[in-house]
Amino acid sequence: MTRSVEDTVLIRGARLVGEPGSWTQGRVCDVLVVGSKIGRIEGDIEGTFDFVINADGMILMPGMVDTHLHLWESLFRGEMADSWGNDYFGSIPPYISYMSPEDVYISVYAGAIELLQNGVTSVMDYAHCARSPEHVDAVLAALDSAGIRAVLGYDLHKREHTRYDPRLISYSSRLSDLERLFSRVSSVPLISAAVCLSEFVPGDPESMTRAATEIDIARRLNAQAFFHNNYHGEITELALRNLLGPHLVAVHGNYDSDVELKLVADSGTWITTQPTTEMMSGRRSMTMITRGVRLGVKFSLGMDVPAVGKLGILNEMRSFYLLGRLQDGIAERSEGRVPVRRSEGVPAVNPAMALQVGTSYGAETIGLGGSVGEIRVGGDADLVLIDTRPFGEAPDTAAHIIMCAGYDDIDTVMVAGKVRKHERKLVGVDLQDLAARRSSALKHVREQRETSG
Ligand SMILES: [Zn+2]
Repeated sequence: MTRSVEDTVLIRGARLVGEPGSWTQGRVCDVLVVGSKIGRIEGDIEGTFDFVINADGMILMPGMVDTHLHLWESLFRGEMADSWGNDYFGSIPPYISYMSPEDVYISVYAGAIELLQNGVTSVMDYAHCARSPEHVDAVLAALDSAGIRAVLGYDLHKREHTRYDPRLISYSSRLSDLERLFSRVSSVPLISAAVCLSEFVPGDPESMTRAATEIDIARRLNAQAFFHNNYHGEITELALRNLLGPHLVAVHGNYDSDVELKLVADSGTWITTQPTTEMMSGRRSMTMITRGVRLGVKFSLGMDVPAVGKLGILNEMRSFYLLGRLQDGIAERSEGRVPVRRSEGVPAVNPAMALQVGTSYGAETIGLGGSVGEIRVGGDADLVLIDTRPFGEAPDTAAHIIMCAGYDDIDTVMVAGKVRKHERKLVGVDLQDLAARRSSALKHVREQRETSG
């Protein structure tokens, strides 16, 4: 199914969830997609269209958004499913030194296709594989050919485990390569770029000044700035320097104190959290979810490490919801309030919130708010149809998605008006060919690593 951008697609009779302000029980109506945008949302739309999808018994929701993923690691799918503590750091990141740009291309492409298959239409790819300009270009080319909407994060941090190409060893060379990426993406549809900050240490003026400069660069480029927020005190130090705001995204945020979470909420800074990866490795508590929600923090979700398992945000939304419930239950019982009861702000997380965390908040986190993440006339047509017919529909639409839907129920996925999956099958993707290219790339990388000791 190849269509020009001016084509029309009618989605007939779906139940909508994710219209602005409507995140629970949605209305049933028709949605007309014209080119890359949503043209009309009405009870009954008559006419002749290029393609009609009968969506009776299906839920139409905004495409899901992954706001923190290292897609170059997709080649190592599932390799870290039994990772514990810091195992990951010695195992997966060192691979990058043995990957050619072609290996990176196939890894990013395969991961992006898996995301589309699972209803993720936008991704922030934190590309800490940028060890040569060609590796950066390979990420861009892979995202572009996969046809996913993406924000490509250029990593300014020089990583210890990585063998850099001589052209990117100096800090100034990475800064100019970042500028090069920004000018390249400006002509690539569906792709934008972001700045991933060098590591900074609270109390170290030199690294803090560098962080401030990099945040300024992101602002000048009208881009989001991301940093791995792994230490207590980072938010406080950024606040003291007046660097917090909606342009900044803290990744993880597990060690943020209540005072810091309040600073995050009041400044509109974003936190992206990674439930599967965090729970699996046992490294960090997730209490900032309920503490943060009660203080007004807006979270979004990411898979982080493809080496852990299935890419997609449906499971992350469910985990976010369940973790919130688990934490509130533990807190209530430890305070002796048994049996647990509802009270002001408890439980903190409900299905409608979890759904927004995986869609509209995600879009805002990566700088695409107002364009994707909601269903509205004039908005980009990044949409997902969930089939409820085989086993029935929950009374609350958000609750159906969070607790009843699985990846197998994703019938149709559309990005910028293009149907990428329909009747549960990817459109325009040769999975057999992809599998062959994946295994030969994986073989190449493993051999390189083994022979290099
Ligand atoms: Zn990460």
